Amino acid sequence: AKGDGRGTFRFFAPEMDRRLQERQRLVQDLRSALARGELVLHYQPYVSAETGAVSGCEALLRWQHPERGMISPADFIPVAEQSGLIIPIGAWVLEEACREAVRWPAEQRVSVNISPVQFRNRELPRTILTALTRAGLSSSRLEIEVTETVLIDDVEAALDTLRQIRALGVRVALDDFGTGYSSLSYLRSFPFDKVKIDRSFVQELPTRRDNQVIVQAIRDMARGLGMSVTAEGVETCEQADRLRQSGCEELQGYLYSRPKPAGDLEFRYSLAPKL
Ligand code: C2E
Ligand code: CA
Ligand code: CA
Ligand code: CA
Repeated sequence: AKGDGRGTFRFFAPEMDRRLQERQRLVQDLRSALARGELVLHYQPYVSAETGAVSGCEALLRWQHPERGMISPADFIPVAEQSGLIIPIGAWVLEEACREAVRWPAEQRVSVNISPVQFRNRELPRTILTALTRAGLSSSRLEIEVTETVLIDDVEAALDTLRQIRALGVRVALDDFGTGYSSLSYLRSFPFDKVKIDRSFVQELPTRRDNQVIVQAIRDMARGLGMSVTAEGVETCEQADRLRQSGCEELQGYLYSRPKPAGDLEFRYSLAPKL
């Protein structure tokens, strides 16, 4: 009944309990997932907008759960972050991606997503160096992708970590650009090599003229600051044409390839758009 606080509590408690148990179960499963080899990386190429040559691939994590099937990173990465498991999982992703990339043509890079939790861990530069060394991969072929949330809480610490990583010779990309808050000032203050324009701006090209204006502005500003621009989520030839006209250097999206297991990388050198 209305105003019956206790009744409401009794109603919700079992449901909350069930969710909590479900979550604990997922954390337990995730803890053993690494050891059981259930985590795998898929790779999605990005291409030169000018030539279609593959300039690298982004590693994207997948969890092949024995009962639940393939679980999307959007569903288990938050669990990994909250439980702290993102630290060993993230270290594994770095090593695995570097080991895979040594087999690719030398001009191709591998891009690895780094969670804000991982980024705040002071061991990250060392973890990156260990992954490179164990795999025997040249540091210039590794790129990490971070979102601007990593920059927010402690600007000095973030700058320090970014500088340490770049001092190794590793490139740093700012992911999902345009979705956060103070994007413009971040671009000026932090030493990124590349900016990835978020899929939301690409998606409505070219029907929405305002998106075209935003993409052009991002690209002009990035170039002025000495950064290159990659557009993600490119699905149509029309989008690719607009992005190329705006001067974006690299394109990535289903138009070229979906993320695929390493064994299916049939796109070694160049990729024409699939229609
Ligand atoms: P993200 O880094 O922004 O990755 C791009 C996402 O968009 C990927 O989803 C990719 O499969 C999807 N995508 C690529 N091209 C297209 C396209 O043309 N159209 C559409 N609709 N989607 C496209 P995915 O693989 O589900 O990954 C989701 C997010 O999970 C990633 O977003 C990233 O934030 C996170 N993630 C994935 N792997 C890792 C990892 O190893 N470590 C960390 N910390 N995060 C990861
Ligand atoms: Ca990314
Ligand atoms: Ca992104
Ligand atoms: Ca994203």
